Amino acid sequence: MAFAVLSSILTAGTDGALAYIVKPVMDNIFIEKNSGLLVFLPVLVIIIYFAKGLFRFTQNYIMRYVGQKVIEALRNAMFTKMVYLPVKFFSDQPTGVLMSRITNDINLVQSSIPTMINMFRAIITVISLVGVVFYMNWKLALLAIVCYPLFIHPLFVISKKIRNYSRKGQERMGGLNSTLQEAFSGIRVVKAFVNENQEINKFKKANSEAINFEIKTILAGEITSPLMEFIGAFGIAAIVYVGGTQVINGSITPGAFFSFLAALTMVYQPVKDIGNANNVIQSAIAASQRVFSMLDEKNDILDSDGTLPCDAKNKDIEFKNVCFRYADGEPYVLNNINIKVKSGSTVAFVGQSGAGKSTMANLIPRFYDVTSGEILIGGVNIKDYQVHSLRRNIGVVSQEPFLFDDTIRNNIAYANESIKEEEILAAARAAYADEFIKNLPEGYDTMTGERGVRLSGGQKQRLTIARALIKNPPVLILDEATSSLDTESERVVQKALDNLMAGRTSFVIAHRLSTVLGADMIVVLNDGKVEAMGRHNELLESSATYKKLYEMQFGEAQE
Ligand code: ADP
Repeated sequence: MAFAVLSSILTAGTDGALAYIVKPVMDNIFIEKNSGLLVFLPVLVIIIYFAKGLFRFTQNYIMRYVGQKVIEALRNAMFTKMVYLPVKFFSDQPTGVLMSRITNDINLVQSSIPTMINMFRAIITVISLVGVVFYMNWKLALLAIVCYPLFIHPLFVISKKIRNYSRKGQERMGGLNSTLQEAFSGIRVVKAFVNENQEINKFKKANSEAINFEIKTILAGEITSPLMEFIGAFGIAAIVYVGGTQVINGSITPGAFFSFLAALTMVYQPVKDIGNANNVIQSAIAASQRVFSMLDEKNDILDSDGTLPCDAKNKDIEFKNVCFRYADGEPYVLNNINIKVKSGSTVAFVGQSGAGKSTMANLIPRFYDVTSGEILIGGVNIKDYQVHSLRRNIGVVSQEPFLFDDTIRNNIAYANESIKEEEILAAARAAYADEFIKNLPEGYDTMTGERGVRLSGGQKQRLTIARALIKNPPVLILDEATSSLDTESERVVQKALDNLMAGRTSFVIAHRLSTVLGADMIVVLNDGKVEAMGRHNELLESSATYKKLYEMQFGEAQE
């Protein structure tokens, strides 16, 4: 940055020098016809231009280099910040908007850095040229200066508008990104409902909103120069009139006048640059407000992280008076939950859809924090554990298995990069995945593609089970892990799950009661409250909800 600033000062100096030598060129060569300077002055012009080019190049190159490095650092900082933010942050905002922060907004911030240096150079240039102007003819200079405020006012009005449009345009870009992201990730739904046209219209609307603000920004930006130029014409006209009078009556030389005029017209460009720079900087200020508000985002969980390392092995888990709601002012989703879970046992949550089963499970790894009450592992509030240590103790297998765009081997080893080949194979075998993996064209080196599109639901699920086996956590959460599978693959996945659950404290959420019949304890949730707890046979007697669920499924099985 310092080098760039130095180069920009030197570049600005060369502009002053160029304006200054118009006087000796005009007076000594053209009017006095001094042939001695005929060679010297042109050579001087070449040298000055060489210096100007060199300094300008170093300034611009260094500036853009710094700009790119700033993008790199900001992107890293933002991604790091975001990845650590709580789950709530991600469920509150569309993915597209978050992506737009990291791409568009950061680019806007970056673009302002070279512009700021250009503006600095422009200011120095203006100072050096104004110096020449005053040195040549201070009376004319004063006249010119009187005209300049005329430039400034429209500049302020326009730049405010630009900042406004630019902010709105960027917000619309975020909207556009979300529309895209939604349409692409939901493409099957879109096609199945033959809803392409509706999606296209939604996209067109978002696109035209974004573009309209861009166009307004461009309009305001492009009006700046011609407007300033036109206003400037009045100043030039006045100066030609007054200066011409002075030359005609002999009070100044023609060279002095032209040198003055050269400096004055050269001032125009940097002043214009300052105006343009201002536009870019206004956009950047709007973008950087969004970027930095994200970087300043509070991290409810990590900012008050616990201090104890967690080892949940052989420890009981307890929900004590747990109440939870997703946001202040919303109704409670969980009400006064009290359950005790013995280490190594299997607890099943059952209940109607929306009863709060997933929410219960999400509280254990602190994806969300309880609103009141506490969850204890080995008698210690989970908030007192280091959250990352806590999460290392918990394996999650969910309804929608997520695979990374990587090889099967790396997908299984995800939680542990230093894992040995035999362990990967053992995990795959225990998850009943080894056989189908071996039959794939490249075995364990097969790429699974985004979300593993080339594998069946059951196969993907078995890979995520193998991944959980490698992680080897004492606590497991199985969130409807088999509910999207057909009976055949459910049977294999269930066997894999049985291997995974052996010796671990497991929380199972299942739609199909068949998968929870063997649980040590079944918790029946109804509208965020524990309606009943116990084993299958007891619950058939004691819980109306459980009986209803059971009969519904039993009926289904008969059909
Ligand atoms: P279940 O797993 O039993 O089907 P959930 O725990 O998913 O039920 O949901 C319980 C309640 O919480 C539902 O009323 C649901 O609408 C609400 N809910 C779930 N996730 C969120 C969220 N991210 N923000 C706000 N409300 C939510």
